[in-house]
Amino acid sequence: MASINLKTEIPGPKSRALMERRSAAVPQGPFHITPVFAAKAQGPTVEDVDGNRFLDFANGIGVTNTGHNHPEVVAAVKEQTDQYIHTSFNVMPYEPYVEVAERLNQLAPGDFPKKTFLVNSGAEAVENAVKFARAFTKRQGIICFDHAYHGRTYMAMTMTAKTKPYKHGFAPFNPEVYRAPLPYNYRWPGQQGKGDEPTVVAEAFRAFIDVVEGQVGPDQVAAVVIEPVVGEGGFIPVPLQFMKKLDHYCKEHGILLILDEIQTGFGRTAKMFAANHYGLEPDMLILAKGLAGGMPLSAVVGRADVLEGTPVGGAGGTYSGNPVACAAALAALDHYENPETFAHARVLGDVMIKTLNEWFEQYPIIGDHRGLGPMRAIELVTDRESKTPNKDAVGAILKHSYENGVICIGAGTYGNVLRFLIPLTATVKELEEGLSIVEEGIRRLCPVPADV
Ligand code: PMP
Repeated sequence: MASINLKTEIPGPKSRALMERRSAAVPQGPFHITPVFAAKAQGPTVEDVDGNRFLDFANGIGVTNTGHNHPEVVAAVKEQTDQYIHTSFNVMPYEPYVEVAERLNQLAPGDFPKKTFLVNSGAEAVENAVKFARAFTKRQGIICFDHAYHGRTYMAMTMTAKTKPYKHGFAPFNPEVYRAPLPYNYRWPGQQGKGDEPTVVAEAFRAFIDVVEGQVGPDQVAAVVIEPVVGEGGFIPVPLQFMKKLDHYCKEHGILLILDEIQTGFGRTAKMFAANHYGLEPDMLILAKGLAGGMPLSAVVGRADVLEGTPVGGAGGTYSGNPVACAAALAALDHYENPETFAHARVLGDVMIKTLNEWFEQYPIIGDHRGLGPMRAIELVTDRESKTPNKDAVGAILKHSYENGVICIGAGTYGNVLRFLIPLTATVKELEEGLSIVEEGIRRLCPVPADV
């Protein structure tokens, strides 16, 4: 069976009718990558209400790492709903929550006692990590980075870097959040081409110290929060040496190092966590997205002493750690813990690296391509000399792709990054099929070969 099967023009008549109802009933705030409405999804594909089947390289913004409707996740959800759907962990606790916590404590890097707190969304986990950090350290300052994305609730939005559309018009933001420059090699001032990593690391770390020591004082800083591969900001892997320096500095000054692994977790980089690539043992990990195979669940996993710094009743929520989501997470974790899962993710990552390298050689609108494992992206520019961000090219490629059966998603502070959040269960053939359609979209914009 072909993975892609288009039966109508895109969008088809049923999607168009639904979009009219949507426009009348729902505010414009929530944007859509595609103009089609979902009907069902399985593995790497999604079918819309007009019967068109797409390869899904967006995966609900990097959530269904297991593929859509993984059979064991679906079975676990059904089994749990037959028992009970909700009691509230704050009213009558239940085993699936405890078991998810036990397993995440085991999986998170670091040979020290750990505890896990569960909530519903990525942003909510970010909020709670900040609460734990402040309560434990009895300090206020939170350091985050340029190009960061941490969510849309007030603290998470404050920590998010990009103004439009995430923050514009929503001020005032929360106090005691400070921002340091991100070692973004490709766009570090004065750098040619991809950028010289040692120089960028040295300069960015000096700038980080300037922020901490010049603006806050290290003894006032509760935590440094960083995405090891910056996600919404454009799939920018933080250089290893920068992370090591950060880790060392935090330890020296009693500052907690918090990794936001909401997008990088659960095999997205072909390891359980990006922290595993870096050999880091963060004080807290913030997790969501892939955790529950498509169900809403998020977690703060970290040092037991840190999470115990909050008094009884100081953390919680009506729906936090919902039992159906926990049951789904246990099935998803079984899938991730099967060694074949990440071995396959590595193979997919290698195919992507090879393909994106070839594209870079051929198409001058690709200024940079980067990532960690299969978490990869291309950054589009008008020309390699000026590196002027080419947001229109991303829009045109995304449109070409979904009109021809592949759903992708953009990223980047300047909107000029095309990222791939492929299902980690896709076959190499499906991956190549999808990438070839994206490549057609690039080629249409860029008939002249790259002069490299
Ligand atoms: N942090 C990171 C790194 C993310 O990628 C996201 C979501 N894209 C969030 C936080 C916010 O998660 P949510 O949308 O579930 O609130």
